[in-house]
Amino acid sequence: MTDTELKELLSTCDPAAQQELRARAYLCKLKFIGPKISVRGLIEISNICSKNCFYCGIRRANTHVKRYRITQERIVEIARWAYEKEFGSLVIQSGEIQSAGFADYIENTLKSITAATEGKLGITISCGEQTPQVYERWRKAGASRYLLRIESSSPELYHQLHPADHDFNTRLACLKSLRELDYQVGSGVMIGFPGQTLDNLVRDLRFFEELDLDMIGMGPYIPHSETPLGANLKFTQDYRLHQLEIGLNMISAARLLLKDINIAAATALDTLDEHGRILGLLSGANVVMPNITDTQFRENYQLYEGKTTLHESSGNSRDKLIHQAAAIGEEVLWGTRGDSQHYAARHCPTPTAESKPSTLAEG
Ligand code: SAH
Ligand code: SF4
Repeated sequence: MTDTELKELLSTCDPAAQQELRARAYLCKLKFIGPKISVRGLIEISNICSKNCFYCGIRRANTHVKRYRITQERIVEIARWAYEKEFGSLVIQSGEIQSAGFADYIENTLKSITAATEGKLGITISCGEQTPQVYERWRKAGASRYLLRIESSSPELYHQLHPADHDFNTRLACLKSLRELDYQVGSGVMIGFPGQTLDNLVRDLRFFEELDLDMIGMGPYIPHSETPLGANLKFTQDYRLHQLEIGLNMISAARLLLKDINIAAATALDTLDEHGRILGLLSGANVVMPNITDTQFRENYQLYEGKTTLHESSGNSRDKLIHQAAAIGEEVLWGTRGDSQHYAARHCPTPTAESKPSTLAEG
């Protein structure tokens, strides 16, 4: 696909053309992945963050957030529950802290989860920038995937989104080091933040391609009033609709371009439309991450405003997913890690049963 073609896909706004784009991307997902949804239980283990990203509701300077860190013991209990309920994978996410204590806390938690669940769970970490040594310790302790969004592949935009103590090249170096440590590497961008153009998004897609990513976790930007970027933005119905459309177009374009990688349907989509996550799946995504954090903590982990799962119990999220998947004729891969096929193919380039396109979708 040329850049011009990608830009055309991203700019699709006529309803019939959107329908067609999503159908094409969904067929591509069926061909490379099949009618299957991988599931990861998301645990937001701490909202303590040393960073001050201009867009994020739990940035250091937001004093209206009650800071918490879930104990190691409680995280292991949640992980055991997830394992019993056949979640094949977990995502452990937090604000960014670079300290010896935090590195130990994650390492010990990983070891305990691995021991409590017979090492069967796939574990993704999403705890920001760390040193290669820390990434290596966490890898050895049981993490197999890491999600670190580049936020924007344009260094200029990256610098507009972050205070001066952030460095685009540091983030790139982190992604490189994660690859060297043999993580399944995930990255992504915020879609539709002020100042971003369609050309920027085309560059982002090319960036995903150049990095040969295994997974993509990207989602629409949603304003938070306690942040410099979101403070003066009016989140009107038209604005919401635009964010939903560009978010879905970006999923479809990524699927058509990158084919067999894991693409998450971000929970932020649900903030924009009650069926947002399902629309994400029907636009080409194949991964969902129901929130299984204790509900008492969720109010204080609002990266953006309007988070939908503030009061929904983990059991209900699970049941909801079963119904939603059944409604669109997809199978939820319970009890399966749902590792990236793209990662497997890189390690074993000859086609395997998993990396071969599914015959079901050929027709
Ligand atoms: N601290 C870690 C993980 C938590 S933040 C990190 O930054 O990597 C996870 C993601 O939330 C970020 O990468 C960012 O893309 C997203 N995010 C933060 N604020 C957001 C907002 N207002 N709208 C949409 N996504 C947001
Ligand atoms: Fe902290 Fe991540 Fe939010 Fe930035 S995006 S303020 S690093 S939690």
